[in-house]
Amino acid sequence: MRKLNFSSGPATLPEQVLRHAQGAIWDLDGSGIGILEHSHRGKEFGRVLERAEAGIREVAGIGDEYAVLFVTAGATHHFSMVPENFLGERETADYCHTGVWSGKAIEEARRVGTAHIACTSAPSFAAVPSALTFSATPRYVHYTSNETIYGTQWRTPPTAPAPLVCDASSDLFSRPLDLTGHALVYAGAQKNLGPSGISLVIARKDFIENGRRDLPPLAQYRTYAAEHSMHNTPNTFGIYVIAEVVAWIREQGGLAAMQVRNARKAQVLYDFLDHSKAWSGHAEPASRSLMNVTFRGATKDLEERMLAHAEARGLSGLRGHRSVGGLRASLYNAFPEDGVHELVKLLDDVEHGR
Ligand SMILES: *Cc1c(COP(=O)(O)O)cnc(C)c1O
Repeated sequence: MRKLNFSSGPATLPEQVLRHAQGAIWDLDGSGIGILEHSHRGKEFGRVLERAEAGIREVAGIGDEYAVLFVTAGATHHFSMVPENFLGERETADYCHTGVWSGKAIEEARRVGTAHIACTSAPSFAAVPSALTFSATPRYVHYTSNETIYGTQWRTPPTAPAPLVCDASSDLFSRPLDLTGHALVYAGAQKNLGPSGISLVIARKDFIENGRRDLPPLAQYRTYAAEHSMHNTPNTFGIYVIAEVVAWIREQGGLAAMQVRNARKAQVLYDFLDHSKAWSGHAEPASRSLMNVTFRGATKDLEERMLAHAEARGLSGLRGHRSVGGLRASLYNAFPEDGVHELVKLLDDVEHGR
């Protein structure tokens, strides 16, 4: 029996996608060769790559001024790749510091140039700051649309005096994508899009053209744009899975439908937490993430009891991130609505000693 997987990433994927992938590993589209075995230069994989990019463009409404890139690396790679490409040694980029991930991005920017903290919600990281203070001439403004570990999310992107760069790893395609003001959006795939070890980048063509030219080819965004993400052998299977996930999103009604369902799922859990005496949410209501619901029990013992009961009932992945503790339920696109009700029932049962 498959478990209910609340993992923060790699995370649960739609059943339909897994079934299709099972088939395609054996035989891709009746070609007699599996997706793992096809040459990346062959026409069969060529069709997969086209389908992935076209699907992404259609589902998210991405215009021609943006390139869609598949980079064989996780989101962490972009923490350094972004400043290396776009930040000069004597230049400043502004960063919104909302948690563990932005902290890592800031650390990497500081290896290259100056990172100015435009806002911070340290040390509790329970909210997305509402007031931002920018440096005089930032090269770009970086923010993390959803803080996977603390469970906060920007409702709308910040308004900034420079191009926005967004780490959207844990909420890309969970809601309509507003690219206004954005020069580059990157996301590791293993939350909402597919397997780990591959990231999707949506970037303005004119922005990446202005990046540094004295870096190794795979360290320049322009290489991926110029060579259709095929400068070297891409993660063919990852791209296949992303294409399938995007097709599934379209069948479900697109990003607007995803948002409605995600809001409904998260609401069930937040409502329960708000009314409970034993459990309490971490994030401030206005900044609550629809993807990662972080919460605590009244006592450590209660949390441990809950985790033991969860395991016994087939609910997995509810322990909070090792850096913050507590509990976390990740409710990405593919997480089933019934699963949230099962979690609420479990929390209620444990609270009342059932
Ligand atoms: C998961 C995550 C990352 C890290 O992704 P890797 O694939 O491990 O590099 C970065 N940023 C955010 C917001 C994440 O959720």
